[in-house]
Amino acid sequence: MRINIVGGGLAGSEAALSLASRGFKVSLYEMRPQRTTEIHRTGDFAELVCSNSLKSEDLSNASGVLKAEATLLGSILIEIAKKYRVPAGKALAVDRIKFSAEITRLIKENPNINVIRQEVKSIELNDEDTIWIVATGPLSSPDFESWLLSVFDEDLFFFDAVAPIVAADSIDMTLAFEADRYGKGSGDYINCPLKREEYEVFHDALVNAERAPIENFSDRLLFERCQPVEEIARSGIDALRFGPMKPVGLIDPRTGEQPYAVVQLRKENVEGTLYNLVGFQTRLKWNEQRRVFRMIPALHSAEFVRYGVMHRNTYLNSPKLLNPDLRSREFSNLFFCGQITGLEGYVEAITSGRFVALNVEHFLKTGQTFVLPKATMLGALIDHITISGKVPLNPVYANFGLLPSVRARGKREKKLLKAKRAIETMKSFLEREGIL
Ligand SMILES: Cc1cc2nc3c(=O)[nH]c(=O)nc-3n(C[C@H](O)[C@H](O)[C@H](O)COP(=O)(O)OP(=O)(O)OC[C@H]3O[C@@H](n4cnc5c(N)ncnc54)[C@H](O)[C@@H]3O)c2cc1C
Repeated sequence: MRINIVGGGLAGSEAALSLASRGFKVSLYEMRPQRTTEIHRTGDFAELVCSNSLKSEDLSNASGVLKAEATLLGSILIEIAKKYRVPAGKALAVDRIKFSAEITRLIKENPNINVIRQEVKSIELNDEDTIWIVATGPLSSPDFESWLLSVFDEDLFFFDAVAPIVAADSIDMTLAFEADRYGKGSGDYINCPLKREEYEVFHDALVNAERAPIENFSDRLLFERCQPVEEIARSGIDALRFGPMKPVGLIDPRTGEQPYAVVQLRKENVEGTLYNLVGFQTRLKWNEQRRVFRMIPALHSAEFVRYGVMHRNTYLNSPKLLNPDLRSREFSNLFFCGQITGLEGYVEAITSGRFVALNVEHFLKTGQTFVLPKATMLGALIDHITISGKVPLNPVYANFGLLPSVRARGKREKKLLKAKRAIETMKSFLEREGIL
């Protein structure tokens, strides 16, 4: 059986090194340096495209839990990141040049990895003797995107225009109410009302908040098609009240009246632990989103599990297309990992690469794949993008809202309990199933 990996970014490099270290021969296709993307700068494998931080290692932080799980799974890139760490408090920040250079060296010198510096424009899926792992990332090449589109039809997205997502237990329900417009539906929305004075202060803060710059053409295109909430606000004081904050058809049960303006929150997952701000796609800087959106009375202590973003991002509608082993529902020899699955973030990409590599190995040895328990952070992330998240998918990164609830008093205690359970669950799962 041949194993071909497309894309030598974070996910693809982890998958290649993992499989090679366990005795499997793989071919790794990478189009750089001949052909590059808008954000990559080098021809190295596993280039960190933006920040040099792999986020916190603290277990009260969701990314810290994911990294602990990645270590249990035996991730090679996380070990290399630790080797090249630079001081950054509780965060695992790395010397990006040394990090990528070491991974590039390990890949090139590995006799089990055949590096092919070439753009893959399409894949022959009828060849049953080849397993394909696709890890072409958020900026997959245009020709490959066209091929994906021809196979998966309308279930491929090219832009990320996402409104912020907040944890349900951080919404102040004494200042919000559940209702659907005109009483239609089953109370699926949480409504955050604003009085006139509150609305005016919020509007003023929104139009004056600092925005992230528009970097390239595709961003500008997106900007024209899908107006950010701050741009709608700039077109006039009442623009939001007649747009995403319109109160019509909603009665606040506490006053018996229609509010002056309303921010509606919609469930982001089946369990209802996460909610998105409907119509609030935004380009505000992240600290500004936190400051301004917390001026909405019911969101005064909102915990943002994901901030709004607008940029080019190729990803699959994974709830429709992928099984929870990250294998295509339709093609049994096709796996995906990294950001193309809708998992966003460096550590998410790396860990999913390791997961898919272990799954391919398991499949080749036993004829079966495995699915992680939902109480683990990686299991919960994959469950969200393949089963319980809504369609169409919004990309997601590690957050505690994805994990099943626990009983504890404070927020920190809850997080630590979830973290402990996640790590113990991962350990016992790997032992029980004999995955490593
Ligand atoms: C602008 C931007 C900034 C980001 N900043 C951060 C950040 O600061 N922190 C964070 O945690 N996450 C960040 N992310 C999100 C994400 O973590 C990174 O994009 C991450 O690199 C994703 O890993 P990946 O392996 O899925 O994709 P990539 O690392 O992008 O790897 C994909 C690889 O596939 C190659 N490729 C593409 N198409 C083909 C083809 N047809 N044939 C052969 N090779 C191909 C590419 O050249 C690339 O090497 C950012 C994303 C974007 C778009």
